[in-house]
Amino acid sequence: MAIHSTWSKDRYTQVGEAIAALYVKALKDMPPDVRNALTQAERRETVAVGRTVLGTIQRNIGVADQENLLICQDTGTPVYFVDIGEHSGVNPVPLERAIREGTERATVRHPLRSSVVSPITRKNDQTNTGYRVPVIHWEFVPGRDDVQIVIVPKGSGSENMTYFRMLLPADGVQGIKRFVVESVVGSGGNPCPPVIVGVGIGGSADLCMLLAKKAIIRACGEPNPDPEVQALEEELLAAINASGLGPMGLGGMTTALAVHVEYAATHISQNPVAVNIQCWAARRARLVIAPNGDITMGF
Ligand code: SF4
Repeated sequence: MAIHSTWSKDRYTQVGEAIAALYVKALKDMPPDVRNALTQAERRETVAVGRTVLGTIQRNIGVADQENLLICQDTGTPVYFVDIGEHSGVNPVPLERAIREGTERATVRHPLRSSVVSPITRKNDQTNTGYRVPVIHWEFVPGRDDVQIVIVPKGSGSENMTYFRMLLPADGVQGIKRFVVESVVGSGGNPCPPVIVGVGIGGSADLCMLLAKKAIIRACGEPNPDPEVQALEEELLAAINASGLGPMGLGGMTTALAVHVEYAATHISQNPVAVNIQCWAARRARLVIAPNGDITMGF
């Protein structure tokens, strides 16, 4: 059965061009919430080496701004979260093609380092795309008439520090807290702290991992709307920062800028938990496509 679309062919072409610009924007322009969290962390820091590292990070961002450079050399794995409004009239098949082509175009045209290879042959097509990459997660939103696309160029240092465990129901929330804190502190300086910690709780194994990744795209420090989950986020943040691991793992008060928790219902005999860490270069950018075709970019 064909999917009905109210979008013209030109609109998909425009979106492809916008995706190319969005990828470059995400790599060069740090979201204001992350900038603010890093500034606050530097102001709070009492450990000299931690303050020095945070100052160096600020200078890194300043140079990228002034010289129109990438914030970090790692262009990451391109991961997209796409929200399709119920009344948007979009056909996801050409939209997926536009996202892929936009990613390739940005990489070739800028040019960007291509960080994506085949896991079997290690062949690099120099496009930042490959089989099943870019990674695209789709959600369908009742009542809305727009399309929103968030890109996260996910750096490898932090993605390598990803954890999943099927705990027992008897381990309870205490077991979840222990697992999260041990995972983050055990990662040391590898994920380039101070980090944003994404935590997924519940669901099946695959959904739990997705929730942890989804958690890192929230604006830095924006709490979960559920007060119980919010309390858990605050408790985990305090426990992680009490470790003293600090910026780049060299010591200091701020190991994590924020902990974001997302959860889903789960099986009666399961207690899954996942941790996905985002580095200080917490890059993301958002594209909104209005029903009239207007495209706006932000974070
Ligand atoms: S983990 Fe982040 S900051 Fe560190 S090298 Fe990778 S992208 Fe850059």
